[in-house]
Amino acid sequence: MEYKVGRYLNVCKYTKCGKDFYGRSNRHYCTPKCKKLQNNGKTKLVNQEAKGSDQKIRKAIRILIDIFKPDKDGKFIINWVDLDSKSFPFDLPTIKIKDDRYNGTMSGVGSYCFYREEENFIFYKI
Ligand SMILES: [Zn+2]
Repeated sequence: MEYKVGRYLNVCKYTKCGKDFYGRSNRHYCTPKCKKLQNNGKTKLVNQEAKGSDQKIRKAIRILIDIFKPDKDGKFIINWVDLDSKSFPFDLPTIKIKDDRYNGTMSGVGSYCFYREEENFIFYKI
């Protein structure tokens, strides 16, 4: 991160903007408008991926959209401590899913499915 007279060079997180701007290191958007547009976009994405479900599912989906970074096989592994640190609602309602990618039953939530393997949770996109 480049530093200049008390301000950092940031890149606007609104995907359709992406402009460079100077501000505090924790500022993510060049303008309040960009922040609003990005959040509107995110709510839309959460609605799509949660398929209009309850609050816990929506919360889980909101977290997953931020952290889900699959490997080349579409698999995303996260330690339960890291997931817990994001306040992931572990008691969320899920559906049972059988899938070729795992020899067992996975839990489905919105457009994701997952299972637990010792200390880790393994997520896939459905
Ligand atoms: Zn912007």
